[in-house]
Amino acid sequence: MVGSAIATSRSAERVVVVGAGFGGLRVARSLRRAPVQVVLLDRNNYHLFQPLLYQVATAGLEPEQIAKPVRAILRGQKNFDFRMVEVTGVDFAQRRLATSGGPISYDFLVLAHGGETNFFGLDSMMKHGLGLKDIGDAVTIRNHVLTCFEQAMLETDPERRRAKLTFIVVGGGPTGVEMAGALSELIRLVLVKDYPRLNIKDVRILLLEATDKLLASMPERLREAAGKTLWRKWIDVRFGATVADFDGEQIRLKSGEIIPAHTVIWAAGVRAAGLSARLGLPTARQGRIAVEPTLQVQGHPDVYIIGDAAYGEQNGEPLPMVAPVAIQMAETVARNIARALHNKPLQQFRYHDQGTLATIGRNAAVAHVFGLNLSGFPAWVMWLVVHIIQLIGFRNKLFVLLNWAWDYFFYERAARLITRD
Ligand SMILES: Cc1cc2nc3c(=O)[nH]c(=O)nc-3n(C[C@H](O)[C@H](O)[C@H](O)COP(=O)(O)OP(=O)(O)OC[C@H]3O[C@@H](n4cnc5c(N)ncnc54)[C@H](O)[C@@H]3O)c2cc1C
Repeated sequence: MVGSAIATSRSAERVVVVGAGFGGLRVARSLRRAPVQVVLLDRNNYHLFQPLLYQVATAGLEPEQIAKPVRAILRGQKNFDFRMVEVTGVDFAQRRLATSGGPISYDFLVLAHGGETNFFGLDSMMKHGLGLKDIGDAVTIRNHVLTCFEQAMLETDPERRRAKLTFIVVGGGPTGVEMAGALSELIRLVLVKDYPRLNIKDVRILLLEATDKLLASMPERLREAAGKTLWRKWIDVRFGATVADFDGEQIRLKSGEIIPAHTVIWAAGVRAAGLSARLGLPTARQGRIAVEPTLQVQGHPDVYIIGDAAYGEQNGEPLPMVAPVAIQMAETVARNIARALHNKPLQQFRYHDQGTLATIGRNAAVAHVFGLNLSGFPAWVMWLVVHIIQLIGFRNKLFVLLNWAWDYFFYERAARLITRD
């Protein structure tokens, strides 16, 4: 049975892909020559380059520079169709999806619905903290940080003014480190010029990490280099700092310490997106669904799960929730669907780790790639090149490059607008 939202011809097998993120988009592209009809579903009409979200949050880039409409990306692909719908469930027996646009049937299903911010059940953080997962989150952070500066200008009480100018980032992984570095540069290189009457000594940026390490997946030398760079950018890094509570005006740590602050950016965890919990399948760590080595779901050979939503292990370690895993899984799934159509045995997924990069502002980054450990300027150049190459669309690449060059030479941030929803 086919819902009215998706009444298209059924001469070929239909592959329905949920999610136009790194994984879903790559599956759709990789099936361009396969004798199938590809239908991509997403609640948004665009593909988002999440690794640069923190630059939207810190007023460095505009949202449209890191996102592109799915229809524009796959315009030329003849066997492709897109529907902007929210997927709410799957009837595996009937091979049918429930969506906000009506039911959609499939012959093969690829679930690539990604992840969401994991607040680890900390209700107060869910209510008052700021997550960073989509464009809305990034614009909310930008508005909030800039509003804190405007409000600090009006505040006569010095303690309350300092609380408005205290910015806390939770989580010492790549997102937290990049966010803290960019926030420091926004404030110390740009906002300091916009608010000459504010005392910059009232501004504090803290990076809270529950363990005793930043960038845990990097070698020790790079972790130390990252720590020193953050220190040079006036970021107060606290190890063993676990958050207990945040009421929007002060944060309480498990140690009992209370820090007055109006801004807490939560970069401490990700889990599988909400759809996973509604599939009726057993979930593993972070709500991810365990997949077979072929990336099929156990008991459902026509269903594959990839990217952040999938749980797999390699060499006894869980696969990380990063873009290269999603992309490489997508390529394996596209090959497996083509093989299944020809009754050939399916391939097993093997992840080829190319390394990790994190930038900590201008001229500063750490890179652990292809067995090389780089820090400082060379790592920063490598970070720039890798991100420009990976951005989708020539126009986005060009505008991001221009923006970066402008900010680099003129110590500016173009997107310092406080916008209303
Ligand atoms: C701030 C941030 C920075 C990051 N930086 C890096 C980095 O530097 N390097 C790196 O490798 N990785 C990074 N990551 C992780 C990386 O972005 C993810 O691992 C990757 O996006 C996972 O790809 P995916 O295809 O599984 O899911 P996603 O890319 O998240 O795509 C999922 C898609 O599914 C859609 N969707 C979800 N639920 C539904 C539903 N019910 N109905 C319809 N559509 C739905 C979403 O709208 C989304 O478009 C970062 C992530 C974040 C949040």
